[in-house]
Amino acid sequence: MKICSDVDGVILDYIQGFIDFTQRENIPYTHNPELYGVIRNFPNNFEVRDRFHAGDSLRQLKYIDGSLKILNFLANRHELHLVTALEPEQFQKRAENLKSVNYKTLQCVGDNRKVQIVIEELQPDVMFEDRPELIEAFYRAGLQVMYPDWHPYTRGMERYATPFSHWQEIPDLLQNISLTN
Ligand SMILES: [Mg+2]
Repeated sequence: MKICSDVDGVILDYIQGFIDFTQRENIPYTHNPELYGVIRNFPNNFEVRDRFHAGDSLRQLKYIDGSLKILNFLANRHELHLVTALEPEQFQKRAENLKSVNYKTLQCVGDNRKVQIVIEELQPDVMFEDRPELIEAFYRAGLQVMYPDWHPYTRGMERYATPFSHWQEIPDLLQNISLTN
């Protein structure tokens, strides 16, 4: 089976990394967990994002509970590809952060190219994604999509995809997919 996963919000805790960054830098910030995109509604959002990405935070985002262990379990049995909307210039930092994951490929493709690369180039059997617009886009392209349901912004996505509450659920969920296909 070919498995593809998004990174931020699924494997790595970008949101907590950003919140920690604003606290270290004394940047006043109120996180709204209902909205996708932790920086999106920030005043001067591009400037703050660039500062966040320029430092070392991106090398050391924390793994979401269970993600590393389960990803490596899956990588032993399946083909694992990681695709992130981070800009290509961030590849080294991202690769460093993910160096313990036995993925086959890692791509930093930028926001605009991600859907196309997943749908046309990778064509996975299953896609892990947390961004609501992309969950819907992958569903419409005929992919089996799974999403983490602990983010308030993924509420309602069960119309398009299969929710999971912990990475430990993934092996069984994949088993069900391969049985029904
Ligand atoms: Mg994401």
